[in-house]
Amino acid sequence: MRSLIDIKDLSVEELYDLIDIANDIVDHPKQYAEACKGKKLATLFFEPSTRTRLSFEAAMLELGGSVIGFSEATSSSASKGESMADTAKVISCYADIMAIRHPKEGAPFVASQNATVPVINAGDGGHCHPTQTLTDLLTIYREKGRLDKMTVGFCGDLKYGRTVHSLIAALSRYHDIEIVLISPEELKLPSYVIYETLNKNNMKYRQVTDLDAAMPELDVLYMTRIQRERFADPNEYERLKDSYILTPEKLDNAKRDLAILHPLPRVNEISVKVDNDPRACYFRQALNGKYIRMALILMLLREAEKDRSVMKPEGDFLINTVICKNPSCITSCEQELDQVFKWTEKENGICRCLFCESKQIVNERKI
Ligand SMILES: [Zn+2]
Repeated sequence: MRSLIDIKDLSVEELYDLIDIANDIVDHPKQYAEACKGKKLATLFFEPSTRTRLSFEAAMLELGGSVIGFSEATSSSASKGESMADTAKVISCYADIMAIRHPKEGAPFVASQNATVPVINAGDGGHCHPTQTLTDLLTIYREKGRLDKMTVGFCGDLKYGRTVHSLIAALSRYHDIEIVLISPEELKLPSYVIYETLNKNNMKYRQVTDLDAAMPELDVLYMTRIQRERFADPNEYERLKDSYILTPEKLDNAKRDLAILHPLPRVNEISVKVDNDPRACYFRQALNGKYIRMALILMLLREAEKDRSVMKPEGDFLINTVICKNPSCITSCEQELDQVFKWTEKENGICRCLFCESKQIVNERKI
């Protein structure tokens, strides 16, 4: 039985399969109207994210299934101290598949190891949000007809933007992708993403501060919001904010078939005057979010019918020898969980928390 916790859980081939199913749903919606008849999706949202939840619920309803669940932790048994493992076992009795949003990193993974139905990670802290990345990939594919051979610009807050880091990682698996990172100095892509994703995969990339200068070469422009509170100096924010606002004038020297994406909600980083430009894809992107979730629900339910055994992680593990230092890790609030670290570069003493993927360097001789 498959769950989807991290976008890396899907092979490139499986990603194309999902895109194919999603495209087929768009073309033949009636054929899917009863595909999940009699099936229930549980949406377990331990923190609110109305849009993501509604996207999952709309997806299941359009497949002819039904939806149960909650939208904030105060109304759930987690507020009474129930463990994620117990919650997953109980919900497995009531639903055929579940989507979990949780502030603690690794919580959906813990659920997937204890549930007897597939689990979809609908966002766990700053860790993963694979259905957003799937949405972005489907949008690029539908707009450009391909996922390789293109120049993708990321503009705005590249430091804290989880969606940006995940999409760059997902794009690293396709050929001839060039990345242009457009941001103020304060909000540059973190060096660990540059090292672990761009450099390790030999991806071509450039870091620039000027959106106008980068515009003509872009095939895709992924916009993100710049938040005032990210700047130590408010004057610096005032000075920079307009240079990263997309206006019709800025699009004058863009390609005619540019695709403009944004994970939404937008505040003011894209002028509403851009919305009617055919190159503005962000509302189509929101719609694609529903279609790719429909495809994912279908795929996971089909897999579960074939094989109900839980997929256990593979690798070389350290159990209860290293403690995860990440305060947002699920192990920080569920004391009964074993501390499990997986060796990722044993020769350099590097291991990662199985739940939140935090890196730690361990001196092997001391353990
Ligand atoms: Zn951890």
